[in-house]
Amino acid sequence: MRIEKKSDTVVGRFAPTPSARLHLGNVLSALLSYLSARAAGGKWLLRVEDLDAARCPFMGENTKWLLDDLAWFGFSFDGEVLYQSERADVYETYFNVLREEGLIYPCYCSRAELHDAARAPHRGDGVFLYDRRCLLRAREGIAPPSGKKPAYRVLVPDAIVSFTDGVQGAYAENLERDCSDFVVRRADGVFAYQLAVVVDDALSGVNEVVRGNDLLSSTPRQIFLQKRLGFATPRYFHIPLLLDAAGRRLSKREGDGCMESVRAKYKTPGLVLGALAAAVGLLPSPESCTPEDLIALFSWEKIPRGDVLLPQGF
Ligand SMILES: [Zn+2]
Repeated sequence: MRIEKKSDTVVGRFAPTPSARLHLGNVLSALLSYLSARAAGGKWLLRVEDLDAARCPFMGENTKWLLDDLAWFGFSFDGEVLYQSERADVYETYFNVLREEGLIYPCYCSRAELHDAARAPHRGDGVFLYDRRCLLRAREGIAPPSGKKPAYRVLVPDAIVSFTDGVQGAYAENLERDCSDFVVRRADGVFAYQLAVVVDDALSGVNEVVRGNDLLSSTPRQIFLQKRLGFATPRYFHIPLLLDAAGRRLSKREGDGCMESVRAKYKTPGLVLGALAAAVGLLPSPESCTPEDLIALFSWEKIPRGDVLLPQGF
């Protein structure tokens, strides 16, 4: 008897941070992750990355709008919404796994000290190349400052982590030289994005991550954590950034592309989705459509690598 191996179901996700109302760049991430999962007959999950909920008073309100905006567009997700603000105990379990492996050390540096401690100018995405001064001090037996709560960093190896992105192609980083030891738990006790994302994707069975190209350089750190925690690595698709018709980045501050102004201007979602679909080459020109209409038209081969422009008028 021939036993057919059941092919893995695609499990994709949309995982926005509700620090503000959704903007069209987020909606493009939602759309492409939704289409990729649905075109493969897979599942699409929603996770709210509200790790900072205790410090950011608007997150509750923004989360309500997030759900409302997704429903307005007609996006349907599978299962329960996952809220990172409710999962500190889960992250703690995996933080302790890393700690037991001897990969975690406390860092007492203030923001000003981190500037001094940078081995090189920090990268464009705000990552400092930390010089390990707290680890070296501890190894020399120097007592940490009393009464100060530390952040916790993970010790990275002098090793290259590489992967092939479904849109951007091959990408590699030497973790020690290009990134250095990064924070996995902040001094206020909140777990860092890098750890939470890795744990949540793995425990939710997510095997396909579609997100903005600005997160490409986070991926080697996340793959490193996946390997240390015994998790599988998802397939990655880092999608182009969305610019306005004049080629400027959509700015949250100016309200450009913010869902509040988009919904006030367009009243119905069809043309907004059509504009996004046209921007990434799924439609020849912006015409009204639903998320379902686009499933049959979707292919990763159509999605460009570089920044994409919204049609005139958006
Ligand atoms: Zn330090």
